[in-house]
Amino acid sequence: MSTDNIRIVLVNTSHPGNIGGVARAMKNMGLNRLYLVAPRDYPHEQAEWRAVSAKDILDTAIVVPTVEDAITDCQFVVGTSARERRIPWPLLDARQCAERMAVASSQEQVAVLFGREDRGLTNDELRVCNLHLNIPTSGAYSSLNLAMAVQIVAYELYMVMSSPIVSTNEVEQWDSPFASQGSMEHFYQHLEETLIDVEFLDPTAPRQLMARLRRLYSRVRLDDMELNILRGMLTETQKWVKRASKEP
Ligand code: SAH
Repeated sequence: MSTDNIRIVLVNTSHPGNIGGVARAMKNMGLNRLYLVAPRDYPHEQAEWRAVSAKDILDTAIVVPTVEDAITDCQFVVGTSARERRIPWPLLDARQCAERMAVASSQEQVAVLFGREDRGLTNDELRVCNLHLNIPTSGAYSSLNLAMAVQIVAYELYMVMSSPIVSTNEVEQWDSPFASQGSMEHFYQHLEETLIDVEFLDPTAPRQLMARLRRLYSRVRLDDMELNILRGMLTETQKWVKRASKEP
């Protein structure tokens, strides 16, 4: 388990004060890798004020233009959300999820995505995630302040990382590394193209097919070897379709 393999990703944050609050929450709980996806107003003195003695986290924060840039090398991606979305995804609370992230962090790059203050993460952003994390709240008001949501997740991570009893069996016994987010994206593109080629997917009426397939594969978590096999099968399928379409 290593906090160096866990990154906090803030997507399109509006208020620089929240970025500072996140930096402080992270440093309090021993996390140090902060990614900022297209922050609206940053750098900003309010971020520094709120960070107080965690300015070093801001100094080393990486600013990127897209979510993809922040997570392309990650094998385990968690999306945080205050409410249920249209297609249900595997959903854990902060404590259960922290345990999964801690185990994964011994060999994998882990990212936790936090959304915009006004409207959270988009459905597309949530669909790149292996798991969704929800912090249970009173039914009367489920949306926490961004920095406070990060605080709770970081605290649960801290508690689980400092406990000696977390099992690392799942990762220790696996024979091939899990696929990164970037390779999964290439796979989904290839899968979509092939499904269109074989006329299983109608691009004019795609419905939720790709979202459901993403959910299926992210639930299983493919390793590099399995991903190569599936890519090979798609390539061969495309060759057959090409050949068949040339026949008179
Ligand atoms: N109105 C937005 C909430 C945005 S709050 C929505 O309905 O999604 C800003 C961010 O804080 C969220 O995107 C999420 O990353 C985090 N957050 C807030 N409340 C949360 C909760 N109860 N569980 C998990 N994350 C939460």
